[in-house]
Amino acid sequence: MDKDPTLAIQAGRATPIDTLAPPVYRASTVVYPTTRKFAARHQDLYDHITYGAYGSPTAQAFETAIAALEGGGRALSVASGLGAIAMVNMAVLKSGDQVLLPDSIYGPVREFCAQALAPLGIDGRYYDPTIGADIAALIGPTTRLIWLESPGSITMEVQDVPAIAQAARAAGVLSAMDATWATPLGFKPLRHGVDFSVHAASKYIGGHSDLILGVITVAKEAHYRRLKDVARLYGCSAAPDNCFLAQRGLSSLDARLHRHAQSGLAVARWLATRPEVAHVLHPALPDHPTHALFARDYQRAGGVFSIVLRPAPIAAMEAMLDGMRIFRIGASWGGPHSLVAPNLVPPTRSVTGWPYDGPIIRLHIGLEALGDLIDDLTAGFARWHAAQSASDDDNTNTKEANR
Ligand SMILES: *Cc1c(COP(=O)(O)O)cnc(C)c1O
Repeated sequence: MDKDPTLAIQAGRATPIDTLAPPVYRASTVVYPTTRKFAARHQDLYDHITYGAYGSPTAQAFETAIAALEGGGRALSVASGLGAIAMVNMAVLKSGDQVLLPDSIYGPVREFCAQALAPLGIDGRYYDPTIGADIAALIGPTTRLIWLESPGSITMEVQDVPAIAQAARAAGVLSAMDATWATPLGFKPLRHGVDFSVHAASKYIGGHSDLILGVITVAKEAHYRRLKDVARLYGCSAAPDNCFLAQRGLSSLDARLHRHAQSGLAVARWLATRPEVAHVLHPALPDHPTHALFARDYQRAGGVFSIVLRPAPIAAMEAMLDGMRIFRIGASWGGPHSLVAPNLVPPTRSVTGWPYDGPIIRLHIGLEALGDLIDDLTAGFARWHAAQSASDDDNTNTKEANR
């Protein structure tokens, strides 16, 4: 009798050895020793792995590490950062509820509100990210959840997180914060009174631009269980390989972030001296409008900030960025590579308006040699000037071109 098909399935599944790196558990089916244990498996949903779609030991290991770093109760990993934001909304909100969001929120969340929440009868209302304790005046009878994101995506406003979280608590409203920029090493939302701490682990935590992953940490077991249920029902669990890579990323997060922050600040200071740059939007710079909140609440920065160029034909910015050699054009920062993410149109704003004329560029300062980055930018500014002289004749109306 040919036993090979059986051997192919059963042989070599040997016992583990002790290693520093955790093993990766790739599993769909979990098997049980008895009929009775199989029948009772759902009782274990929140603490054990019962099915691959509901988690894995590899995800649990990553979640344990994140919860420890966040100083919080329990963490849950999900398929992406945006998925983490979606899961918190779906866990908390129902038809007729209102959610408050900062005007500076990560762009795809706006789309999520308009295309996923609004059709369910959930109202998304935007607020000035610098509102602070005055958020209390916006909390109405149907408000259930207040989102924070600090600093704001692209525009870098630091929020008064403790004031907003406190106002939410006082009104019996839950709060959730996207703290991706700072990582758990730079800011711990739960310690500031926030109920749901959300990270796109795709960014600094993974740290190498090779995975997509989100993670949510909560202090209350009831919140964890509700999130776990929602993630299970939407089939949104994280893949074990991504959790493994993210946990590996955590090992070097402190060292990488230190370097990102150091180079980031050096480049930001240099850019502030350049005549081509109208504004440098970096929360760690003392003249940043919300620097005081950053200095009060944050342990450290990362390497992400934005600049606003002086008004010029769009062709000048294109000449500058298209010719960059070290900085690459792209989103999803947090890896070793330096990136530029230009915005040809001003970011969407519902309530605060947009104060700048020139185009805004988000920079991610990577781990390359600082001198190479400065050289790349210096050459870029030379192209910016050259393209402007070339187009002087057609006298482009920059403001119109940028709209
Ligand atoms: C990238 C990002 C997200 C989304 O994360 P994905 O894993 O790409 O879905 C959410 N919030 C912020 C602030 C981000 O930068």
